[in-house]
Amino acid sequence: MTQKYQRLMEEFQDQVTRDDFERSFYTRDLASVPPIMTRLMFQTKPDLVVSPLNEECIEETMRLAIEERLAVIPRAGATTAYMNTVPADGGILIDLNRLRGVLDIDKENLLAEAWSGTPWYEVEQTLQKNGFSLCTYPSSAVAATVGGWFNTEGYGIGSMQYGCFHDQVEAAQIYLPQGKWIDARQEGSYPLSWFMGKEGTLGIVSRVRFRIRHLPEAEYHAALAIDSFTQLVSIINRLAGQAPGAYNVQFSDSDCFSMQADLGYEVPLHDRHLVCITYQGSAEEIKAAKKNVQQLAADTGAEMMPEQVGQEVWDDRLYALKIKRGGPTLLAGEVALSADKIPLFYQQVKKLNQRTAVYGHFMGPNKANILVQYYADESKNIQYLFQMAKTKRIYDAAISLGGRPYGVGIWNSVYLKRVFPEDILRQRKAIKQELDPLGIMNPGKYYSPPALLHPVLFGMGSGIANGISSLVGIGKGR
Ligand SMILES: Cc1cc2nc3c(=O)[nH]c(=O)nc-3n(C[C@H](O)[C@H](O)[C@H](O)COP(=O)(O)OP(=O)(O)OC[C@H]3O[C@@H](n4cnc5c(N)ncnc54)[C@H](O)[C@@H]3O)c2cc1C
Repeated sequence: MTQKYQRLMEEFQDQVTRDDFERSFYTRDLASVPPIMTRLMFQTKPDLVVSPLNEECIEETMRLAIEERLAVIPRAGATTAYMNTVPADGGILIDLNRLRGVLDIDKENLLAEAWSGTPWYEVEQTLQKNGFSLCTYPSSAVAATVGGWFNTEGYGIGSMQYGCFHDQVEAAQIYLPQGKWIDARQEGSYPLSWFMGKEGTLGIVSRVRFRIRHLPEAEYHAALAIDSFTQLVSIINRLAGQAPGAYNVQFSDSDCFSMQADLGYEVPLHDRHLVCITYQGSAEEIKAAKKNVQQLAADTGAEMMPEQVGQEVWDDRLYALKIKRGGPTLLAGEVALSADKIPLFYQQVKKLNQRTAVYGHFMGPNKANILVQYYADESKNIQYLFQMAKTKRIYDAAISLGGRPYGVGIWNSVYLKRVFPEDILRQRKAIKQELDPLGIMNPGKYYSPPALLHPVLFGMGSGIANGISSLVGIGKGR
């Protein structure tokens, strides 16, 4: 085995490791899953880890993988939780975290270029020093990278105003598993849409060029306390027609705060939900926004909280997993859903017989990304399986309301046929076949579930687990 990697190890010494201990760090992602589950189905330890410092190293690694038909698994911040970045059956793991830094700021055309392994927070800091800012970034910006968000769904903070990050991308440098570099653009023979959101299954992204904006002159964060999510829908509907538009809208339910309070965090309220609306723009626009929010609160029966609460929620926006501290394990279901369906979805979630923290932000004027979190304990295998089955109820609730899981990886591949039309799935597979005929890029994910996770088997298993859980309380959690 080592023989195969000899050339690479000699040429890129400190960028390549076969060390067993070091490789073991790559056997999981953000989600804690008991080894009993993963060992049954997968070989999660990579055979080799390459951490490229430059594009030459990517190219040589990919050449070797093509020659030897080895699986290649791209991994960056690993802030995803569906095993997107974990090998399904060994192979070469390319850790992109060292390919880092902002390469260019085009001040005239409002564009920036960064290495794919640059965390968003770092990009924003560099931009701000130069008087610019990102249009959007994920709430995992402290660790999540440019290449990671390019390869996943691309909605986050600022999406209320600027939509999806994918629409801001102008170009990306990608090494294809056919053995060549391409400069993907919005249009052309390799359109960006083929690659964005495809979870590292079509190539290695080394650089991304994307739109930026001037640093806003002022900002304002309004916090509104509400009693029900029907009020949230009224708020979002009213915001849709207003000028200036809101930059970001996020919300947390009362349990989110009470679970934080249990851990000793100071929270703005315990018994109601909170919506935080952020405006960024000129001083004039902020003045108008403040007036609008006052009216909005009066019209919807929401209570305006002191301005400091809005500021604190905003300052906390990159720490959405605060309650993890109360662990040991945090399980979650994350969905994309139409705004008007949030109240019904929330009702379903609260019937889970499980204390859950619900947090979300708007992906635009009428769609939200909602994260439902609850405690579990991965050290208790059987209990954990019952607790994990509850994620299916979260996804079922969203799907029955026209929503879908946010992200695919391995775990959510079981829902693919329920949420995407047949022709979309066929088209994706055809592009995969064309660009990766050897099937070496991040195999075993995204396009279809592994055999043991066949949707029928999975549905039956989860259904039985949820039934038993409701009847006898096993896996009830806390
Ligand atoms: C607290 C928290 C908040 C979050 N908030 C958001 C949010 O607001 N919006 C959102 O969309 N998601 C969010 N997420 C999920 C996750 O952070 C994002 O999807 C993020 O963009 C992943 O970036 P990453 O660098 O961690 O990528 P990874 O998790 O390392 O990888 C993600 C996928 O991209 C592939 N990949 C990564 N880099 C490359 C590359 N250079 N070339 C080819 N393939 C690559 C991987 O193979 C994998 O399939 C959040 C997660 C957490 C924990």
